[in-house]
Parts: sequence; C-alpha cells; structure tokens
Amino acid sequence: MLNIVLFGPPGSGKGTQAVSLSSGFNLLHVSTGDLLRKERKEETPLGLEAESFIKQGLLVPDEVVIGMLSSHLEENSEEFDGVIFDGFPRTVAQAEALDKLLEFKGSSISACIALDVEEEELVSRLLERGKTSGRADDADTDVIRNRIKVYHEETAPVADFYKEQEKFRSIPGIGLVEDIGFALANEVRAINGE
Ligand code: AMP
Repeated sequence: MLNIVLFGPPGSGKGTQAVSLSSGFNLLHVSTGDLLRKERKEETPLGLEAESFIKQGLLVPDEVVIGMLSSHLEENSEEFDGVIFDGFPRTVAQAEALDKLLEFKGSSISACIALDVEEEELVSRLLERGKTSGRADDADTDVIRNRIKVYHEETAPVADFYKEQEKFRSIPGIGLVEDIGFALANEVRAINGE
C-alpha cells in the first residue's frame, strides 16, 4: 500500500495536487476539510459541531476528525492501492492515531511530502480562491491569518513527527501547478520504489 500524507499550510496547493496524484497512482483521496464541509452541508450533528470551529479558522477537535476519518477509510478504501491524506493529520495526536489505525490494518504511512510556500503567497492565494470557492473561511483576511497561525502552532509539529520516522520530504510549492505536480509525482515514484 502507498499511503502518502500531503502536508503544508492552508493554500499551499494540497487539494489541487492530491486530485491528480490520486488518479495517477490509484489512491483514495481523503480530504478531511471536504468531508467536514459535506457533513455541514447535510446538517449532520458532526457537521453542525464542526461549523463554529471552521468559521473561526480553528481546528475541529481531534476525536471528531479521527472518528470521521476512520469510518471513511473503512467504507471507501477497498479498491485502491493506498491513500493520499490531504489536510490530515493536523496535530501530533492525529498523526499518532493514524499510525495506530494503519497498523491495525497491517499498513503504515509511506511518506509525508510537504509543499513549501511562503506566508504572503498563501494569504493572496486563499483570498483569490475565496472569490469563487464559496468558503467563508477563504474570504476573510483575519480568519485566513488565524488558520496560518493555527498551522504554525498545532500542525507544524507534525512535520517533526514524520522527520523522526525518516518519512519527511519537502518540495517547493511555488510555480506552475503542472510543474509542482511533476515534481510531486517523481517523489511518489521514488517512494514507491519505481
Ligand atoms: P481545509 O479544507 O483542509 O483547509 O480545512 C478547512 C477547515 O476544516 C480547517 O480550517 C479546520 O477548521 C477543519 N479541518 C480540516 N481538516 C482538519 C483536521 N485534520 N483537524 C482539525 N480540523 C480540520
């Protein structure tokens, strides 16, 4: 199994790149942000609980996200050769839970690949996306800054978690989408021993 964590701050391009990687390598694309937005749209109890956190640019509590991810994997991963995790894990507790979950299935994370993008570029990308995404958390500069702050405080330590396991890699996330995709696919092929 090829299990990749696509890592990086909000606006670094994880979602865009995850879509092409997933089809290129037959991986299940799991975006916890997309799953949470779906729950919210369907007005499930989980979605309603998540809403106030998302609106403020805060992380949804670990136990909510881990439970949701676990059942999604259970229901969807069968016909794939692995998983690409987009926007998960966002805390060290989530990374630890993911390791346990995969271990239980006799699998593990193959690598964590970070997309490296500087902060001002992130803010302008997210504001631009906010014009068409319909996402309130992309439309407000304060919420965007808060998401980036949360990333530095709570999510950045996840990189160290994978560095300690010697599974961390990073590529520049600036430039043409296709060029970044090409570099990313090369990394994934190397990880896959191709
Ligand atoms: P994203 O689409 O990945 O930018 O996520 C949008 C929002 O959903 C985030 O700002 C968080 O509020 C929430 N979210 C998504 N993934 C997670 C996660 N793994 N842990 C906690 N909150 C999350």
